[in-house]
Amino acid sequence: MNERQVLCPVCGSNEVRVVPMARRVRAQDGTELEFTVSITKCGRCGEEFYTREQSLASSRASAATLREREGLLSPDRIRAIRDFYGLTQAEFEKALRLGPKTVVRWESGTVRQGATANSLLLAIEGNPVAFAKVAEANGLEPATLGVSGYTIVSKVVSGSTSVAREPIQFRNFRKVKPVPPKKAAMG
Ligand SMILES: [Zn+2]
Repeated sequence: MNERQVLCPVCGSNEVRVVPMARRVRAQDGTELEFTVSITKCGRCGEEFYTREQSLASSRASAATLREREGLLSPDRIRAIRDFYGLTQAEFEKALRLGPKTVVRWESGTVRQGATANSLLLAIEGNPVAFAKVAEANGLEPATLGVSGYTIVSKVVSGSTSVAREPIQFRNFRKVKPVPPKKAAMG
């Protein structure tokens, strides 16, 4: 590890060590859950504190513990839902009318989404028609979404995490330009 030296914020000593600490959080159903994080303890004055990395790790552990208990989508799955539409985190936040950095925090795991947001994510997962409807209601033009006539949305190849940029036609959506039927049928 190439970590810079950690000094006690109270007495300035470098006699610090990493120690485990139990933390508790309360899930929405009232259940109290315990998990363990790492903190730093000063050997001289006894002060206990988080380094920035420990603080982030603690946030992630807390969110992960609650996420598992509440059955919420994982950060990776949220990222996959966004990747499906080929959007940046900022674009995805606008499309769902979320605050700045909300998706950033969900995907990095430091904050968990609420139950309502989780339901919304489930509803738009792999469902371009539902997604386009929500995005348009939130003021995004198809062009802003990288969608032209709601056709250029990326599509996940089944069974793979890779994203293929195949166009999806929004045939049932009102702004869709009708696709001319193919003349020659097979056979
Ligand atoms: Zn100290």
